[in-house]
Amino acid sequence: MLGVAILGCTGSIGASTLAVLDRHPDRYRVVALTAGRNRDALDALARRWSPALSGLASEGRELLLAAATHPDVDVVVNAVVGFAGLDATLAALAAGKRVALANKESLVAGGDLVLDAARRGGGVLVPVDSEHSAVLQCLERGCTQHVSRLILTASGGPFRTWDLERVARATVAEALCHPTWSMGRKITIDSATLANKALEIIEAHFLFGLGYDQLDVVVHPQSIVHALVEFVDGNVLSQMSFPSMELPIMYALTWPERIADAGPRRFDPVAASGLTFEAVRRDAFPAFDLGVAAGRAGGTAPAVFNAANEVAVAHFLDGALPFGGIAEVIDAVLSDHVPVPAGSVSVVQEADRWARAEATHRAERRS
Ligand code: NAD
Ligand code: MG
Repeated sequence: MLGVAILGCTGSIGASTLAVLDRHPDRYRVVALTAGRNRDALDALARRWSPALSGLASEGRELLLAAATHPDVDVVVNAVVGFAGLDATLAALAAGKRVALANKESLVAGGDLVLDAARRGGGVLVPVDSEHSAVLQCLERGCTQHVSRLILTASGGPFRTWDLERVARATVAEALCHPTWSMGRKITIDSATLANKALEIIEAHFLFGLGYDQLDVVVHPQSIVHALVEFVDGNVLSQMSFPSMELPIMYALTWPERIADAGPRRFDPVAASGLTFEAVRRDAFPAFDLGVAAGRAGGTAPAVFNAANEVAVAHFLDGALPFGGIAEVIDAVLSDHVPVPAGSVSVVQEADRWARAEATHRAERRS
């Protein structure tokens, strides 16, 4: 029996994780459940799963760390949204846990610190993000030795075919209408701006240890091919499945093994036929290039990109910033940032704090 902690259990990834665990009661036991601020939803899940530990992060940040390091926990599913997930990722890895990481923001903001915590504590980092799970599945024993390039796929979001001006004026309802995935609000907006794909490029850089010149993105509206891995001899492998986060969550729990699972809809090549690929329209989605540039700049730049994006997205969702303003706020904040090496948690936290204050100021002035 493996003990599981789910941080962010009331969200979209939290629900998919519990759906997976529900099918494998002989293998997994829920030890800890945390949520942000939704008491009723947490209580309902706690009644159903009877974890040893449960609580709201809004009532005490220590709770997240206690869940992430609980002695009966083997696997921590970090499904918190945003930078708020970083300390739990670090604590779990330092305590030697397996971290099934949905919270990509923690790796983007604190990549080297996260890898270092895993090295020192003996923890293992396994991606939940579908593109990164796909890459991992295409690699032999996690080894990137013969890889020349990773190509992550992007659905293109709801505005894939919209002209520039129309995208800049898109409403909240339009941006929340994702064509292929049903997800939390923040990542749904990130998918509409393509900031999500930049976060994923940075995530891939840290997870697989590849340079930015080896990381590419292609738009694939059907969301069936999740990534392509090109090897030095020119061969290319990919992983396919109908879009469901239960598959990558399951794989993150069992990697490097697999177990039989009768979960989401089985693949059917005829139903999946008509797969298409197209280039990213970088002019229409400037948040993508801004994020990749921040990744290349390194140091505290990715943390600043992430924080500015979080603040800008929150303002957009509140109706206080136009859609086109999200990338403008990110651009303005990054332009004023001089990256320094992200050598400690406090440096990263300070960069995050600074970027949030700057982004709030810019968003308020912009609206
Ligand atoms: P969500 O908004 O549906 O759920 C977020 C969860 O985190 C909730 O339980 C919420 O209560 C909790 N939470 C919110 N703020 C918190 C805080 N400050 N401290 C502690 N807990 C907090 O989000 P989601 O769509 O499930 O996404 C979670 C993470 O997984 C994100 O990093 C996202 O980028 C990543 N991800 C999601 C999907 C998806 O399909 N939903 C796919 C790939 C990656
Ligand atoms: Mg993804």
